[in-house]
Amino acid sequence: MAFPAYNTNGNSGSAETAGGPVTCSACGCRLQHAADLNGWLHFSPMAGRDARGCSVSCADEVHDARGHALSR
Ligand SMILES: [Zn+2]
Ligand SMILES: [Zn+2]
Repeated sequence: MAFPAYNTNGNSGSAETAGGPVTCSACGCRLQHAADLNGWLHFSPMAGRDARGCSVSCADEVHDARGHALSR
């Protein structure tokens, strides 16, 4: 029936990329930008856990724009 619309980037539906919110690749929590660190951090990490209570090793780490924790 309907011919599939030609999609140049294959990204339909989500606008949460390209300057939008960054989420952690490990637990999916939203990260906050830390301009002075040139990266993204979990909200209020506490004792290795993030604000939502996920016990992830990256809770205190800086993340890149794709949500991947950077090793120090
Ligand atoms: Zn993380
Ligand atoms: Zn989390």
